[in-house]
Amino acid sequence: MNSSSAAKTILFLLVIAFIGLVFFTSTSDISRTRVDQPSFSEFMAKVDAGDIKEVIMYLSANSYELQGEYKNPANRRFQLTIAKEEAPGVTSALRDKAVQIKIKDAHGSDWIMLLLPYLPLILIVGFSFFLFRVMKTNPSRTVTGIGYDLHRLAEGRKLIVGGIELPFDKGPVGHSDGDVLAHALCDGLLGAAGLGDIGTHFPDTDPQWKGANSLLFLEHAKKLLADKNFAIEHIDAVVITEKPKLGPHFPKMREALAKALGVSADKIHLKAKTNEGVDAIGRGEAIAAHVVATLSSR
Ligand code: MG
Repeated sequence: MNSSSAAKTILFLLVIAFIGLVFFTSTSDISRTRVDQPSFSEFMAKVDAGDIKEVIMYLSANSYELQGEYKNPANRRFQLTIAKEEAPGVTSALRDKAVQIKIKDAHGSDWIMLLLPYLPLILIVGFSFFLFRVMKTNPSRTVTGIGYDLHRLAEGRKLIVGGIELPFDKGPVGHSDGDVLAHALCDGLLGAAGLGDIGTHFPDTDPQWKGANSLLFLEHAKKLLADKNFAIEHIDAVVITEKPKLGPHFPKMREALAKALGVSADKIHLKAKTNEGVDAIGRGEAIAAHVVATLSSR
């Protein structure tokens, strides 16, 4: 998972957590605040006892709905409907007891109150839309690159493959350390990111790269990829040489390459082949490598 998809996953989880919190809060409020439907006489008894300090009166054509919260007991609401004819008497009795009365039109523009029960649903739809837009406008992109390299083998040179020196009587001829695997890998990575090739960034005419450790090229490639917001997802490589056997050295090679690239060794897969005695590689005169690198954009 690259940092982009990780960020989206975190965002998604935060949204889920927020929605859960909204649900929890709303259901908690509902369960905490009970709504009584007292009879008219029970309501008036509460008024007489001083347990009601404010009443909202919703007016409609034939009846009035009274709503409010008891002063005692706390967190308990009431709701009852009275006939329109009873309203003057009730209003007068409430005023006598210094109860505040707020008049509202039941069919008026109190839309916020009407929408309040649907708030969680509105939030879910809103955040889903937001998430959809984020994912749509910032899609993850996968790209691949291929890399190839071959070096002649000569006596008296160190054989370095994948950043590891192998015991052998021959080594690659080259300006740098001649690490075919690192070079092919570098080309694969740069090609996938559209950043040219190894020769563009490390020309073999530049004396500073004479005898250079090729892992430096990979470290530089890593920075170039990061600047372009690419993340390494997968590397698959084949190294072809008649001798020596490479398989036993693969764990150390993967470790060295992974360290240079700042990725887990799990993302690097190496395979060894011979050339069945055919051609220059088969005669032990050369070593070659092929690499396919897969990147994702953030
Ligand atoms: Mg090379």
